[in-house]
Amino acid sequence: MARVNRAARIDDVRVHACRVPTDAEECDGTLCWSATELVIVELRAGTTTGFGYSYTQARPAATLIVEKLAELVRGADALDLPQLWKAMNAALRNLGRPGLGMMALAAVDIALWDLKARLLGISLAQLFGRMRESVPVYGSGGFTNEDDAQLRAQLGGWVDAGLRAVKLKIGSRPDDDPRRVALARETVGSDVELMVDANGAFDRYAALAIAHELAASNVCWFEEPVSSDDVDGLHWLGLRLPVGMAVAAGEYGWDCRYFRHLLENRAVGTLQADATRCGYTGFLQAAALCDSFLVPLSAHCAPALHVPVCAAVPRLRHLEYFHDHSRIEQMLFDGLPPLRDGALWPDPDAPGHGLHLRTAEIARHGC
Ligand SMILES: [Mg+2]
Repeated sequence: MARVNRAARIDDVRVHACRVPTDAEECDGTLCWSATELVIVELRAGTTTGFGYSYTQARPAATLIVEKLAELVRGADALDLPQLWKAMNAALRNLGRPGLGMMALAAVDIALWDLKARLLGISLAQLFGRMRESVPVYGSGGFTNEDDAQLRAQLGGWVDAGLRAVKLKIGSRPDDDPRRVALARETVGSDVELMVDANGAFDRYAALAIAHELAASNVCWFEEPVSSDDVDGLHWLGLRLPVGMAVAAGEYGWDCRYFRHLLENRAVGTLQADATRCGYTGFLQAAALCDSFLVPLSAHCAPALHVPVCAAVPRLRHLEYFHDHSRIEQMLFDGLPPLRDGALWPDPDAPGHGLHLRTAEIARHGC
């Protein structure tokens, strides 16, 4: 057995459970929430520390990491990521990997990748292999409980900041959705891509009917028009949407088998993936699958965390600059990639993902 390099041995695992109230209640087509939780994992090897995080129910995820996953990574070689990925997946077999299990695992996997890059003294984008210097983002919010003035201010603010695509939520009041979407189009002008997300609020016939109404506002992206569990429904809709509008889904992808299932069934025009749910490892697998199926990939939420891995995706469309998560990242982390010309720019000289914990803020939001 290969001798473990002392400098690469993982000495310590620390876990933080955080809860951050939103700046106002947020609603989409099927849920409302007033706080967002995240679990943060720090891994230390010698004097080098990496970290990862996932937006999930923080305390149960932290318990799962402490009681099931920490023992696998503590003492392991920080460079042997495939071994650890396999061992952590196996450890969750009887607990249920999809959902909370994978979000806990993803936080550890992201921390492992960050630690590896920092040990090598290179950026994560460099470790993954850069395709591009910056990552295009789209503004995401437009919650269904916002009034018209709030919707205009939020979407207009992103366009003023240089973003070339924005997305709003629909589905909680379908009768009012065409008007809200028309207001959004009027606000952002004709040159900005307009996207909607129903979070699975419709059945396939209702989704098709509203899609034809939204075509008047030149909507190009209809995310989860039906539940992403209805893979046949996504495919059925994709064949019938107005010209110029396509289905997007994939945010509940926990592993490469799920992404392959969506792609093989021609369920999406653009696949979405979320590294905080499938890890950087799963995200890279999704990127390879998208390349093989000739389908673009868009990253779901957690913008700062996705920047380095998106820099390496062959068929990247864009990254979601989600209001809630961009706000939390600014509160809890230093070293965020700057937003310029509609894109986030990773620092090529910063080791790892380049983020640093603001420890006082982490402690203040501990739960
Ligand atoms: Mg969504």
